Amino acid sequence: MSDNQLRIVWIYPDLLSTYGDQGNVLVVERRARQRGLDVARLDVRSDQPIPTSGDIYLIGGGEDRPQRLAAERLRRDAGLARAVENGAIVFSVCAGYQILGHEFINDLGQREPGLGLLDVVSVRGEGERCVGDVLGDIDPRLGLPPLTGFENHQGVTHLGPTARPLAQVRFGNGNGTGDGTEGAYNDTVFGTYMHGPVLARNPLIADLLLKLALDVNALPPTDDRWYEALRNERIAAAQQPA
Ligand code: GLN
Repeated sequence: MSDNQLRIVWIYPDLLSTYGDQGNVLVVERRARQRGLDVARLDVRSDQPIPTSGDIYLIGGGEDRPQRLAAERLRRDAGLARAVENGAIVFSVCAGYQILGHEFINDLGQREPGLGLLDVVSVRGEGERCVGDVLGDIDPRLGLPPLTGFENHQGVTHLGPTARPLAQVRFGNGNGTGDGTEGAYNDTVFGTYMHGPVLARNPLIADLLLKLALDVNALPPTDDRWYEALRNERIAAAQQPA
């Protein structure tokens, strides 16, 4: 953090922000302000350069064509990789998650290179599109309560040896590989298929991003009753038979 200001960067709202993924930015921003932090939020459109001095970067989901355009521009720009080298934290959803991996299948049916910031490869699922509420258990190393989210994707994501699954699903598909894994993470880069917005449903993941960015072990508590009500409603929905 420079100048005691937390810099939150939202990448390509014009291309990558389906299913209310903008909510992830709002939640991180709000929870940082509730802890008395001075926050600067930067929305970086796809015709603008990615700043390399941000603390937390967020990327949302998107349709197949905007996803390809976003990947092309992010590869050309290279600012996000530099930010990660500088120690930035990245949180990505669905199309954004696939872009952070080594490659994915684009709207033209071709293998599109990603940024390689996460050790994952995405392919096109042969089965039905994965759609619906998801409930999972987050990797116990992260010490977080169950994951709730909403998925809508055709892609299937395989993890390489340096990516850890973010969660194991109890209901839903997640990565779609049939082994119950959902999402992936390494020390500073996170990816998930969960919309919702996922950080509104899982505010303690937002706090984890803040703690990593601030390099602290704990944050002052917040009143999370509203989040709890939302979580309970959506966790119950995930357990309803389709
Ligand atoms: N286009 C990607 C897929 O279907 C991502 C979709 C999304 O971001 N919701 O796998």
